[in-house]
Amino acid sequence: MFTQEQKERLVRLCMTEAELAGKSGEDAFGALLVDKAGAVVFSAHCTKLQDSDRLAHAEINLLRHACKTLHTQSLEGHILVTNAEPCSMCMSAAIKTKIFTFIYGTAQGRKTRPSISAEMVRDHTANEVTLVPNILAEETREQIEYWRNTNSAGG
Ligand SMILES: [Zn+2]
Repeated sequence: MFTQEQKERLVRLCMTEAELAGKSGEDAFGALLVDKAGAVVFSAHCTKLQDSDRLAHAEINLLRHACKTLHTQSLEGHILVTNAEPCSMCMSAAIKTKIFTFIYGTAQGRKTRPSISAEMVRDHTANEVTLVPNILAEETREQIEYWRNTNSAGG
């Protein structure tokens, strides 16, 4: 697994993706697909508004793009990095593509519906799922809140 420094570097890259989303009026969520060596393979951010798609979470966009581009349904051996704890939909989607390691920022970045935590998804998965939460927890939470407030104020 990566050093703390590597994990923070990756989560900061997610924050850069999240910034792009926030500036477009979207929820400030970003995701990276990373290989075992720590190299970023793909990145994506939330595009719910742009796509008129409630399912266009950063992670779903990332998984779809990666599978389509690599012509595969398996992203085994890769790691999903996000600036916030993935929702249960995205956790499930990632596990379906054989991603079993998740590195993320704040666990309090979103109010998920249904309220099924990453831990709960992990505990209901036959494979061993590794969660590495709270990387830059404060910074990631503050960024999400900043854009939530800014975008809701702007209408
Ligand atoms: Zn999600």
